[in-house]
Amino acid sequence: MSLAENIQMVKEKIARAALEAGRAPEEITLVAATKVQSSQTIREAIAAGITVCGENRVQEMTAHLDDDAYAGARLHFIGHLQTNKVRQVVGRVDMIESVDSPRLLQAIEAQADKLRLVQDILLEVNVGGEASKSGISPEELPQLAAQAAALPHIRLRGLMAIPPAACNPGDNRKFFAQMRHLFVDIRTTMQDNRACVDCLSMGMSGDFEDAVREGATLVRVGTALFGPRPPMSPGRP
Ligand SMILES: *Cc1c(COP(=O)(O)O)cnc(C)c1O
Repeated sequence: MSLAENIQMVKEKIARAALEAGRAPEEITLVAATKVQSSQTIREAIAAGITVCGENRVQEMTAHLDDDAYAGARLHFIGHLQTNKVRQVVGRVDMIESVDSPRLLQAIEAQADKLRLVQDILLEVNVGGEASKSGISPEELPQLAAQAAALPHIRLRGLMAIPPAACNPGDNRKFFAQMRHLFVDIRTTMQDNRACVDCLSMGMSGDFEDAVREGATLVRVGTALFGPRPPMSPGRP
């Protein structure tokens, strides 16, 4: 199948899962996880209806930005971000989905302040409690969310999660449900700027339909759109 057909198929599956759950398909945005794809492929994806690209490597993203590969789409950073690379990301992406520590939060605030802009972010939650994964624990979340909400150059838009690699379909549904509860709690706590907290990013190629059924507003899909990737460096999704 062509890239355009894959995009169409994934969008149809999202719409079907949404309707089954009594949700409007428009509530969910497909984020194309474009890691290892060429600028040309990214342009094709955007021409075929992708409105948001997700990148998880700063160097690749910078090269694509220099190429103007994301023209016509929004850009989210979805990978692990080291504080020493914050300068290359803040202000260049519409959203940083993967904020996972107070230190990173402060580094983003400082850079956004310097650039006189407000950076949209999500907090990444390690919902499966895996030692190998980044993300804060559900227990640490309320405190980091309060910190984020108090920073003038940060706009907290919601939560992101990468649950454990599922062995069987349906395995991750409980984690998605847990994320929905955490999301609702954060929204309720952030009464003052509740309208801003509107993003719940979860679900990948193997499980995005379950994520939609459990309330995802952003699903990050790579393989189901672009086909399998070559093996990657260890330790990174
Ligand atoms: C690669 C990646 C995805 C997409 O993974 P697939 O299984 O290929 O759909 C989603 N989220 C993050 C953070 C990623 O790095």
